[in-house]
Amino acid sequence: MKSGAGNLSQLIWKTVDWFYPPVCVECGSEGANICPECMQTLVPIQEPFCPICGKPSRHHNPCALCAASQFEFSAARAAFSYTGAIRSAIKKLKYFQNLGLSKLFAGFLASVYTNAGWQADLVTAVPLFKKRLAGRGFNQSEWIARPLAGMIRIPFSSGALQKIVNTRPQVELDQQERSRNLQEAFRAEPALVKTKKVLIVDDVMTTGATFNECAHTLRQAGASEIYCLSVASTVI
Ligand SMILES: [Zn+2]
Ligand SMILES: [Zn+2]
Repeated sequence: MKSGAGNLSQLIWKTVDWFYPPVCVECGSEGANICPECMQTLVPIQEPFCPICGKPSRHHNPCALCAASQFEFSAARAAFSYTGAIRSAIKKLKYFQNLGLSKLFAGFLASVYTNAGWQADLVTAVPLFKKRLAGRGFNQSEWIARPLAGMIRIPFSSGALQKIVNTRPQVELDQQERSRNLQEAFRAEPALVKTKKVLIVDDVMTTGATFNECAHTLRQAGASEIYCLSVASTVI
């Protein structure tokens, strides 16, 4: 049964959509954040994929990246390969708060979570450093993680993980520099995560260095298991 608040929020969103119809991030046509034609161009990550990092693979064994990296998370999964309309949509969410898009992403991640068969106790998002958060006004990963937590009925915690160092953007760095850049950059709250199975959400996974450092920090604070979910993953 739907709550009154849910009905009201749906009504408000319908009215907003009527005045400002969503525009497709890829082709600009009106009616949806990603139109049905552009939706067809998305590349879902399907079996076989690496059981650890979740990147597409030719077999079901750990991939070369995972054999070399020894990740501290149990597993990572992404809904799509980072290409085409999903790339445009993620970029759009990074710079504009768009509730329609974040709910769309959350819906994709809810089915990936269910298919993975994980049992998380807590959902959190890869955090931004305070100054960067103030500059952008919001954390795009949190915008995806919050509606996702609602959909899979697991509590969301923004205080579980914080970024305490203003690191250089990962895109400027190679794989080795990426993990060095993030060392000691996060802080986890033991009172919130101890003995918990934590699900971390991010928009894009590249080398896995960010998820890995978050997982390392959460483990140090006593988390028992770490799962990672991203909307898209770059293909190696
Ligand atoms: Zn389109
Ligand atoms: Zn892998």
